Amino acid sequence: MIDEGYVKYRSEWRPGPPPGEAAVQLLDRWRRSLYAAGLIGHYPELDVGFGNLSIRGSQAGQFIISGTQTGHHAVTTGEHYALVTGVDIGGNRVASTGPVQASSEAMTHAAIYALSERINAVVHVHSRELWMRYMDELPTTSASVPYGTPEMAAEFARLWRDSDLPAIGIAIMAGHEEGIVSFGATLAEASERALGLRAD
Ligand SMILES: [Zn+2]
Repeated sequence: MIDEGYVKYRSEWRPGPPPGEAAVQLLDRWRRSLYAAGLIGHYPELDVGFGNLSIRGSQAGQFIISGTQTGHHAVTTGEHYALVTGVDIGGNRVASTGPVQASSEAMTHAAIYALSERINAVVHVHSRELWMRYMDELPTTSASVPYGTPEMAAEFARLWRDSDLPAIGIAIMAGHEEGIVSFGATLAEASERALGLRAD
């Protein structure tokens, strides 16, 4: 079952101005490529969006992420992004501010940033084809762990330690149908890792 689009953690959102223009332009530039590839989009039958991306903010522990239910937009502006100001992974809480609430998968992004200070960008995409093709070939989180939970954070820490995840920067989320996550030192690197997957 597609379990996209609703928030499993406690979300504390404060309306606020959009994130800075330079960050928004960078995010939108790579999001366009991911959207064109069908890796970010919208399930019409469920009327929920899928896929999201983020970059680290200027202050420690903060990141700028696409907002919840923005997947159907081909082009995004500052109105579609939120600044995550704090995450308590163990306590299952995410605080964000901006014109829109942070993506329901902000917790997964926070878990990736917690792996290393060298990670500056995270991309989460959906593809049934690629998800099936690369499951257990790329580093793969346990099928019993759903996205957006403290257990998922522990799963990424396990893969970081026990697989080649630090070198290749991309993983399959077996417990999150169609879910793939990539990351990198830059948003270009994170995005190209997802865009580089081939179904054949
Ligand atoms: Zn997802």
